[in-house]
Amino acid sequence: MSAQLIDGKVIAAKVQAEVRQGVAVMLAEYGVVPELATVLVGDDPASATYVRSKQRMCEELGIRSIGHHLPADSTQVEVEGLVRQLNADPTVNGILVQLPLPKHLNEEAVLNSIDLEKDVDGFHPVNIGRLAMKGRNPLFVPCTPAGCMRLLQETGVTLRGANAVVLGRSNIVGLPMAMLLQKADATVTICHSRTKDLVGFLRQADVVIAAVGRAEMVTGDMLKPGAVVIDVGINQKADPTKKRGFRLVGDVDFESAKEVAGAITPVPGGVGPMTIAMLMENTLRAAQIALKKKG
Ligand code: NDP
Repeated sequence: MSAQLIDGKVIAAKVQAEVRQGVAVMLAEYGVVPELATVLVGDDPASATYVRSKQRMCEELGIRSIGHHLPADSTQVEVEGLVRQLNADPTVNGILVQLPLPKHLNEEAVLNSIDLEKDVDGFHPVNIGRLAMKGRNPLFVPCTPAGCMRLLQETGVTLRGANAVVLGRSNIVGLPMAMLLQKADATVTICHSRTKDLVGFLRQADVVIAAVGRAEMVTGDMLKPGAVVIDVGINQKADPTKKRGFRLVGDVDFESAKEVAGAITPVPGGVGPMTIAMLMENTLRAAQIALKKKG
């Protein structure tokens, strides 16, 4: 393997240690424990697993987490009502509404109803708008792209003037990722399902962020030698040697890419651990903002 391995577990542990320390300082100096409220609507097992792992991480770092579980047939008024109640509760610092919501609910309206200062997922349109604008800074940056930026920073990658290609333009990963890279002075190209010469763009890229959800789509021969590759994708690939019949792979074919890239994240163990770590960082920041406001 020629590429440097970017170890998300090690870097996430560093972020967690910083948060644990910040939480301890807040408790010692102000007697305050940061609190994250999670809102789960319905019984999707994957969503329930994600919420549980976020709550577990809160416990590990000294953050209080309060879980709210609403039935799948909850109305828009009920879900927004709970969010408003959490907005008004001064002990709640961060509100996390687990997505996707059941289809009958208006996700945008629910996200809009979250208090800007408690928007620890960073999906509120005002936070996204600030991310997009020159000279403005959001209170919170969406966790997965924030985690990718931290991986790049910890790897010592120079973004100023670099050609960065983001594969994917979703609201939660691709789009905010592109805006963050642009804020860091990279020259950014966003590729998506309608892009004509995706490989042509990839071959020019010093930094590649893959967030398409297509197993091993990016192969080594598509990359510029020495490129830094951050693989956000989490895909199931059939593997009869595994007990569950599949293994997890990224959007990048790791085996061929590692021979060409300068540095690369593995899947699992790359971006995945960073997402929850950044949520914890955002929750601590929300508590710091609330304290400052109180004076
Ligand atoms: P979405 O499905 O919302 O978006 C996928 C994007 O990829 C779209 O913009 C789509 O284009 C583009 N795309 C799809 N197929 C192609 C193709 N063949 N060529 C070029 N572009 C393509 O996915 P998400 O952004 O939510 O997630 C992306 C991946 O990241 C998934 O594997 C997901 O599981 C993973 N993920 C991992 C996280 C982590 O913590 N590690 C967190 C969140 C997601 P178009 O807009 O034209 O449809």
